[in-house]
Amino acid sequence: MVILGGGESGVGSAILAQVKGFDVFLSDNGKLTDEHRQTLIDYRIDFEEGKHTEEKILLADEIIKSPGIPNTASLIQKIRAKGIPVISEIEFAGRYTDAKMVCVTGSNGKTTTASLIYHILRSAGLNVGLGGNIGKSFALQVAEEHYDYYVLELSSFQLEDMYDFKADIAVLMNITPDHLDRYDHNMQNYVDAKMRIIRNQTVDDAFVYWVDDPIVTREIEKLKPRVSLYGFSETKRNNSCAYTKNNRIYIHVKNNMFTMDQELLALQGIHNLYNSLASGIVAKLLDITDDNLRQSLSDFQGVPHRLEKVATIRGVQYINDSKATNVNSCWYALQSMRSKVVLILGGTDKGNDYLEIEDLVKSKVRALIFLGKDNSKLHAFFDGKVPVIEDACSMDEAVKKAYRLAEKGDTVLLSPCCASFDLFKNYEDRGEQFKECVRRL
Ligand code: ADP
Repeated sequence: MVILGGGESGVGSAILAQVKGFDVFLSDNGKLTDEHRQTLIDYRIDFEEGKHTEEKILLADEIIKSPGIPNTASLIQKIRAKGIPVISEIEFAGRYTDAKMVCVTGSNGKTTTASLIYHILRSAGLNVGLGGNIGKSFALQVAEEHYDYYVLELSSFQLEDMYDFKADIAVLMNITPDHLDRYDHNMQNYVDAKMRIIRNQTVDDAFVYWVDDPIVTREIEKLKPRVSLYGFSETKRNNSCAYTKNNRIYIHVKNNMFTMDQELLALQGIHNLYNSLASGIVAKLLDITDDNLRQSLSDFQGVPHRLEKVATIRGVQYINDSKATNVNSCWYALQSMRSKVVLILGGTDKGNDYLEIEDLVKSKVRALIFLGKDNSKLHAFFDGKVPVIEDACSMDEAVKKAYRLAEKGDTVLLSPCCASFDLFKNYEDRGEQFKECVRRL
């Protein structure tokens, strides 16, 4: 078994493969972290870093590919040309567990929803693990921890390399353009990857989806899935079983009607309402009691870097939404702002179209600060549309400029619309630097 990529999912897969008695070789053409390298040494797993030795890799019976490696990579094309099956960590680990699988995907809201579902199930006393794109590797948990339930956050890249795996409950939050650079700038390719979440499902399995998403509803119509559908929407529609009415949320599943005051939800904002409704459906499908569900929906602590309140300084609120790596999530962030905003955005462009946020920017944004190595696309779109636009080439500079430009009662919002790799290690690093710079003000 050859594993390509030595990050969290690759190292977890290597350990599971070793435990299951495979001959394992892990190859990463970058540098491993000290921790991952030490883990591989401790488990006596054969590995290389800084290169891919093709002769060795092409001898594999099967390859587990990390989601970060694109299918267009020449090595992957050679592997496929030789007919060697390429699978994901999730496909591999799924073979070795009978646990019930709750799988969450979507362009936005995956981490929040997966974390909230996990919180609800765990608080209700279920033996549950959380994995996929988040936290500890799913494969490692299957090797060493053995849960009865898993909540998995799945990206489109992970879904691409899944074949026999089946979600007992699949949750699709929404589909808006994202990562189009990895899908030949063809939206349908990305949609097809996302819809793989219901692959292999039957009528005994549940598909939880956002009724008002035009792309998802069109796909459902096209596929006529033989799965049980559970829709959620802001207000009641024909096919929604979770919705709001007169400031209460309703979840109608399995002849049970759950209701609670919307104000009591821990997560506020319209996008978070969807996340709570979807999570509530899953909870009721798994027979969580009304009392337990009500408690968990109201005491969930949220996830860092998603509309995270950092501080209020001289009447200006600072919010870290570093995880907003696409235009749509920035739209939701701006939408939920009650004050004028100084918006920090920019980074590595993923084929963005800023038209989606133009109106909100014009009506709510006092100043824009472009934080990136190359801000030319942002200037081409926004110049002349907002009174003040400034550039920054470090987080420190961006936060200082925001501090100077914000007026009492404003919000300084980091919601970048872009990936972070031009100036930061990842979005967490970007968010941490933001928080640190705000604290130093
Ligand atoms: P993901 O894991 O899909 O990237 P997150 O839960 O990490 O999603 O949230 C990322 C950002 O997306 C949040 O900061 C918020 O601005 C936005 N967001 C969260 N939930 C939703 C939703 N249901 N619909 C649209 N945008 C959302």
